[in-house]
Amino acid sequence: MPRRAFPRLLLGTASLAFALAASPAPAQADPKPDIGLGFKMTWLGQSFFRIETGGGKVILTDPWARGNTLYPYKGADGKEDLSKVMDADAILITHGHLDHLGDVIEIAKSPSAKKELKIVLPAEILLYLWEQGVPSERLQPLGIGGVVEVAGAKVTMVKADHSSSIGSWGPKAPLYGGAAAGFVIEVAPKVRIYHAGDTAAFEDMRTIHRLHRPLVALLPIGGIFTMGPEEAAYAVSLLKPKWVVPMHYGGTFQLPGSPEEFKKRVKKARVIVPTPGQAIE
Ligand SMILES: [Zn+2]
Repeated sequence: MPRRAFPRLLLGTASLAFALAASPAPAQADPKPDIGLGFKMTWLGQSFFRIETGGGKVILTDPWARGNTLYPYKGADGKEDLSKVMDADAILITHGHLDHLGDVIEIAKSPSAKKELKIVLPAEILLYLWEQGVPSERLQPLGIGGVVEVAGAKVTMVKADHSSSIGSWGPKAPLYGGAAAGFVIEVAPKVRIYHAGDTAAFEDMRTIHRLHRPLVALLPIGGIFTMGPEEAAYAVSLLKPKWVVPMHYGGTFQLPGSPEEFKKRVKKARVIVPTPGQAIE
């Protein structure tokens, strides 16, 4: 391990342990973050997106609100307001880490949740949610390579180069969470969004390009727990999307990868940097 890696590692550990104060939202937001493919997508911090399909259905990814300093919806009491995301028809969970599993149990058990809400997730995490009292009819397991139709969208689970476990903030051994994953979400015919989950860059991203041709890629850039800007820019060269949106940076864990650095390194895709809560259409 190179010596200069230590300070960054220590920063990550300290941030995780103490969940320090909020880091600011990205300073240089894209003034006109438009894609024009008939869907609407809102970044809610970390890997949490609210995607509204052309058919008017709502899909959430990795819905982490409580403790997510970038989550933009707050109630009068200053606490995270989950009512803004209770209209979900589907929720996709990439892996079990607390900033991805997030508030899915609370949403799934809420009387305000839609009757038809489906949660798509790896089988090991499904069993945990079931044990926690989430109605089994809401739960849809997928394995990597598997496809399911939810909320009028075709959802394929794809691999990620990461770990997965279910745990809390404290020093307690976590539960096994199966394999970490990403998703390709077809929101309209041939309009596909790739949500990478947490991952390093990996050569099979070429396969994701060849099989799915995603037009939009949502990629982690924060470093420490995932790839940083340089590696993520390499991932873009394998995935060949037309648009790319960075995620999993700054925020609660103060992940150091910056969207400006990422933007500088990406050559053949348009990088869109939304502020949390800003819609991309
Ligand atoms: Zn993770």
